[in-house]
Amino acid sequence: MAQAVEHHKIAIIGSGFSGLGMAIKLKQSGENDFVVFEKEGGVGGTWRVNHYPGCACDVPSHLYSFSFASNPTWTRMFAPQPEIKNYLEHCAEKFTLMPHVRLNNAVTSARWDEDNTVWRIQDQHGKQHTATMIVAGTGGLSTPSYPNLNGVERFEGTIFHSQDWNHEYDLTGKRVAVIGTGASAIQFVPHVQKQAKKVDLYQRTAPWVMSKPDRAMSWAERNLFKRLPAAQNALRKSIYWMLESRVLGFTVNPRLMVIAKRWALNHIRAQITDPELRKKVTPDYTIGCKRILMSDDYYPALDQPNAEVVTTGIQEIKANSIVTVDGEEREVDAIIYGTGFAATSPVPKGVIHGRDGVDLVDSWKDGPEAYKGTTISGFPNLFMLMGPNTGLGHNSMVYMIESQITYVLDAMKKMRKENIGYVDVLPEVQATYNEAIQRKTSGSVWNSGGCQSWYLHPETGKNVTLWPDFTWKFRLQTRQFDTKAYYLQPAITSHSNITTPNTTEATA
Ligand code: NAP
Repeated sequence: MAQAVEHHKIAIIGSGFSGLGMAIKLKQSGENDFVVFEKEGGVGGTWRVNHYPGCACDVPSHLYSFSFASNPTWTRMFAPQPEIKNYLEHCAEKFTLMPHVRLNNAVTSARWDEDNTVWRIQDQHGKQHTATMIVAGTGGLSTPSYPNLNGVERFEGTIFHSQDWNHEYDLTGKRVAVIGTGASAIQFVPHVQKQAKKVDLYQRTAPWVMSKPDRAMSWAERNLFKRLPAAQNALRKSIYWMLESRVLGFTVNPRLMVIAKRWALNHIRAQITDPELRKKVTPDYTIGCKRILMSDDYYPALDQPNAEVVTTGIQEIKANSIVTVDGEEREVDAIIYGTGFAATSPVPKGVIHGRDGVDLVDSWKDGPEAYKGTTISGFPNLFMLMGPNTGLGHNSMVYMIESQITYVLDAMKKMRKENIGYVDVLPEVQATYNEAIQRKTSGSVWNSGGCQSWYLHPETGKNVTLWPDFTWKFRLQTRQFDTKAYYLQPAITSHSNITTPNTTEATA
């Protein structure tokens, strides 16, 4: 017997800033025929799953929040993770999104059905759905990256990744090895150093670290923002323009980064007393080539007697120790990976299949690419939020997400008005757009700064992650859905009675 298939006009995947932002704007536009699939047990996306000690945003919260849902009561300039998670949960409640959200329900497969011009979706419980459109808000940094360490399977201690922090494990008095010195590690290392007997920080590449201008928001400020939203908005704008100016050094003239370098070197000198350690943590590439980090407690933690920065590569892991390539062996009770995420391959293979059954990952021969970071040729009516080349090293991702949401909403409006069944970006338009992105990147600090980063595809060296320009230019590009860039298929059918073509599969 054929299983009933649930049809939704729009299927949103993920309930982080992207998915919730899309859902809120759909509701506000009067659209209620949508569902939000969320693999976790609650909303919040990256701000739910990352809960390591010290986790906080490195973009000021008055900007790193929805423009249409301001929060006057942020307790700090850079809110800690629990507060950002609460904010997102609050947004889901405030805008009555929860009836649309399916928690603990990952999308395991989405296939474009050309005959019926719908996406056929299977969730993790085996239930079948169809959707006219998919908005993927799965985030660029959700799949943890694990180093391939020789002998790690023999390790008898505890191992976990920063994203899967083991809060049950008491670090007190333990010998802890931390691998990685990125944005996550610099936040949790000071907490580990305070508890552990010994911390060995395995640093492959030193990051550039600046002082973080964090502070508590005073009662008077919070009160003012509550009573006078324009005051908070003025702060939001000033932060935006201050951050936006940094793009000049990243893409226009990397030599401008000299000033930032001077600040960062002063930060090392001011916070570290040990000359050997100063040398170890001083990067040898142009500042900005990798994400610039911000912290005021990272260097002081490394300067403590129970901390050691190990710059020699790891040769092997033994049952209770780590051996470096110089033959030195360090006893260890726990290993914490601060090794980041698979950022250059944001979508797992085997999940999304477009026209002719092509896997999205296979369609990306030289690494991920999209048109305006949102649509991909051969994948009709699929909209990716935070898609390829929308990432930022200098400003708020929420600004980019909101720009994309405007674009998607306008696409829906035009499709409705012009009775279009589906849109599929023209391959030549996508190619031209991406050539321009790569041209723009070629003079940037990411290409010329002398470092290796997850911004660039490991095999092709192509910038597959970052938006290489001012963010307001992206906003201008995404203000309206440009139908000329798309193949437009007239609407052919109502989807109210679609059942799965393969009944055996559906009832299995
Ligand atoms: P990351 O920046 O990619 O850093 C990973 C670290 O692990 C790097 O130091 C890397 O060294 C090291 N590493 C990776 N594989 C290794 C291996 N096999 N052996 C030794 N070292 C290895 O990851 P992350 O710190 O988790 O941050 C990822 C991104 O998340 C950030 O760039 C940021 O966009 C986001 N984030 C944001 C915030 C925020 O406050 N908004 C906070 C945390 C994270 P190399 O440098 O040599 O590759």
